[in-house]
Amino acid sequence: MNPDEIKLNQAREVIRDASSVFVITGAGISAESGVPTFRGAGGLWKDFDPTKVATPEAFEENPAFVWEWYNSRRADLAPRVPNAGHEALVRLEKSRPDFFLLTQNVDDLHEQAGTETLAHIHGRIWDMRCVSCGDVHEDRTPSLPELPPCCNQCSGLLRPDVVWFGEMIKEHAIQATEAFLAQREIDAVLVIGTEAHFGYIAHWALAARGRNGILIEINTDATAFSDAADLTLRGPAGTILPTLLA
Ligand code: NAD
Ligand code: ZN
Repeated sequence: MNPDEIKLNQAREVIRDASSVFVITGAGISAESGVPTFRGAGGLWKDFDPTKVATPEAFEENPAFVWEWYNSRRADLAPRVPNAGHEALVRLEKSRPDFFLLTQNVDDLHEQAGTETLAHIHGRIWDMRCVSCGDVHEDRTPSLPELPPCCNQCSGLLRPDVVWFGEMIKEHAIQATEAFLAQREIDAVLVIGTEAHFGYIAHWALAARGRNGILIEINTDATAFSDAADLTLRGPAGTILPTLLA
């Protein structure tokens, strides 16, 4: 057996014996569905300055410009479907008494696959929020016809209900994550397709592992977080997860 096979087998044993599992996902889990990641090869932000579109200041200055970018992301996302990685995580959830998935993704491919117990720490791109009255509703129109869109209730400006640079992460997702972690010891933590460069993500991953859990990173490449993992599985999530969770 080569070292990769040994690690995969070790990880399989950990998962087989785990009754409580905490999963964190990032852009990498959706890459094989054709959704570009932010960083890395082909990343959305390689040739693009995020501060021009993903900040409250940018929206205040030019909401229509920000919406044009989101319109193109919506149009790109609309036809995407879950991949084998998303699907394997659904089977994992169904076979464990205790499961929680925290995603940094704004797409809803986990829900489309059938994951039930999850939270979006950075919001969801299909949710629209009124900056005046705070109303949030889902609108899956791939490309909105009029920019910027306005609220039906109060005619205030609508914005994507995603977390921009400098904004607070989603309170309901913080609470759901902390409640899950407070109620039990976690046997296995899976950190999938993310650089884990936000402090709260690394913190939750390590806190969830606690003293007895095993932390497994699944990523095509090494990350700054890799050294903190007990096991690192290198390769695409859409290939590794079905094998790991078979
Ligand atoms: P990131 O773009 O910073 O990093 C992506 C990670 O995924 C990298 O470590 C890369 O090596 C890995 N990766 C790429 N393809 C993979 C694959 N097939 N299998 C496994 N790993 C793979 O993404 P991030 O760490 O999630 O953080 C950036 C922010 O980007 C998040 O806030 C997220 O909201 C946002 N984002 C979301 C989406 C989405 O909703 N699908 C897409 C792009 C960015
Ligand atoms: Zn309103």
